[in-house]
Amino acid sequence: MKLSQEKYTELVAAARAARGGSYSPFSRFAVGAALLTEDGRIYTGANVENSSYSATVCAERVAIHYAVASGERAFSAIAVVGGAADEELPDECLPCAVCLQVMAEFCCGDFEIVTADSGGEIRVHTLEELLPRRFRL
Ligand SMILES: [Zn+2]
Repeated sequence: MKLSQEKYTELVAAARAARGGSYSPFSRFAVGAALLTEDGRIYTGANVENSSYSATVCAERVAIHYAVASGERAFSAIAVVGGAADEELPDECLPCAVCLQVMAEFCCGDFEIVTADSGGEIRVHTLEELLPRRFRL
């Protein structure tokens, strides 16, 4: 864990707030993400579904693509919260493999993925832990 407990709490709160922007009428699974740059900026995202399911974009990728398109290239951590849309504090939600691969494009193995369970307990994982054998060209 390389950030302060207060920073992890702030990041999870930002992800929870971003979750409110989820467009998830098909799965009813709402996800929010908050990406922290190395210089302290936070970019948020929520999952955006589509009736053509493969066009759906996860919250993590919305946040990462927004940050990258804004010129950011160096990231410290991302908080992810998600679950059934009618649950205020769902259980831990981990990124899918596609999002982990997108993280691996820009982040080293010590990049942190921050989650929270239904009791509010914050957990910190590393990209290396969740995607130990990433695809590389
Ligand atoms: Zn994903």
